[in-house]
Amino acid sequence: MASAPVVRFAPSPTGRLHVGNVRAALLNWLFARRHGGAFVLRLDDTDRERSTEAFAQGIQDDLRWLGLEWDRLERQSARFARYDRARDSLIAAGRLYACYETPQELEFKRKRQMAQGRPPVYDRAALKLSEADRARLQAEGRTPHWRFKLEPGDVRWADLVRGAQHIDESSQSDPVLIRADGTYLYTLPSVVDDIDFAITHVIRGEDHVTNTGTQIQLFTALGATPPGFGHFPLLTDAQGAGLSKRAGSLSLLELREQGIEPLAIAGLLARLGTSDAIEPVGALAPLIESIDFGHVGRAAARFSLDELRALSARTVHALSYAAAHERLAALGADLGEAFWMTVRGNLATVADAATWAAIVRGPIAPTVEDVSLLRAATDALPTEPWDSGTWKAWTTAIGVATGKKGRALFHPLRLALTGREQGPEMAGMIPLIGRAKVLARLRGDVA
Ligand code: GLU
Repeated sequence: MASAPVVRFAPSPTGRLHVGNVRAALLNWLFARRHGGAFVLRLDDTDRERSTEAFAQGIQDDLRWLGLEWDRLERQSARFARYDRARDSLIAAGRLYACYETPQELEFKRKRQMAQGRPPVYDRAALKLSEADRARLQAEGRTPHWRFKLEPGDVRWADLVRGAQHIDESSQSDPVLIRADGTYLYTLPSVVDDIDFAITHVIRGEDHVTNTGTQIQLFTALGATPPGFGHFPLLTDAQGAGLSKRAGSLSLLELREQGIEPLAIAGLLARLGTSDAIEPVGALAPLIESIDFGHVGRAAARFSLDELRALSARTVHALSYAAAHERLAALGADLGEAFWMTVRGNLATVADAATWAAIVRGPIAPTVEDVSLLRAATDALPTEPWDSGTWKAWTTAIGVATGKKGRALFHPLRLALTGREQGPEMAGMIPLIGRAKVLARLRGDVA
């Protein structure tokens, strides 16, 4: 990369982030970090009715939780004066023109064009209005909306993900940039910001491919060189349907409450639909190293919550004590490194460690299945100190004394000492539980 890239993630604060839209944040962030560039968080909050400060804060919380810190934060609501200047310059250059048609009139034109077998492209009737026509329409109480005058012909760009692209702008309607109530649609503020913040690459979902030709023309009309563009396929559910309907249930907030690991979300979203293997990562660094838009396939990437859960569990199984211990402390389940290393392989979520901490600490009600075996086990119980070899020595001695082996030997011990059918390796568990509680539980006492 010639110079350090500057990229942006531009959510509207009209909801929380979900797996679909956070993918854009992640891919931009990874790209910036990979190439030593900058990541701008831009809040597209021009829609003052639907945008809220709570969502703006929520989006920032979600990004921080994933580990995606931004280098610069911008809010479009603070930049209206700048958009107005851009508007005025476009009007002066004859690239932005006032239109007075009502929605009903436009609908009528569209229907007529379709009936005549013509494409429903705006006919630019407003360009033919005289000064007097405009004065009359304004006197009728009409306020104009404003369209950007496209130049005819092909717009081409080399898409980072899709390769060579072109859009014939002659087949497009001149896009409305400003509504009749004076509010800006997304296009003009977005392009002005991309110019002012020196964005080098616009990386976003495929749903924006159709906007790109217009935006490239707008960059040029505003005297700027267009940035590079990259459009990645959108995520779908297992049936191939869009994810937006399920956005609520797939919000980061919801997934976080379910105990899903942020690194599992990042690992899955970075590599889904690419040629790179999806595997647990202990940090974002390996994802930064492997990010390459050339590895992103053209087909929609299928997202599965089950796949995410499974990856999250595998992420927990590999989580170091250093990474886990603060969260264990917050759960009241920090019993030290040996405890974590013993239980982590049996957890679906870090929060599940609390169950095993409670079992180690007691009191629990043991399940007594084979009284004579437990008596023999009591007789053979070694004195402390105990270590990871104690279990083997102890159960070997019980086996010799009782003639039992396999499940008949191990299952009653596990039931008595943990009250559970299954769980972490007993070799790790008994030193944590300690001799006094082991003795009591072998007797069937609550301890
Ligand atoms: N606010 C726009 C969106 O969320 C940004 C699109 C873009 O990246 O240009 O769709």
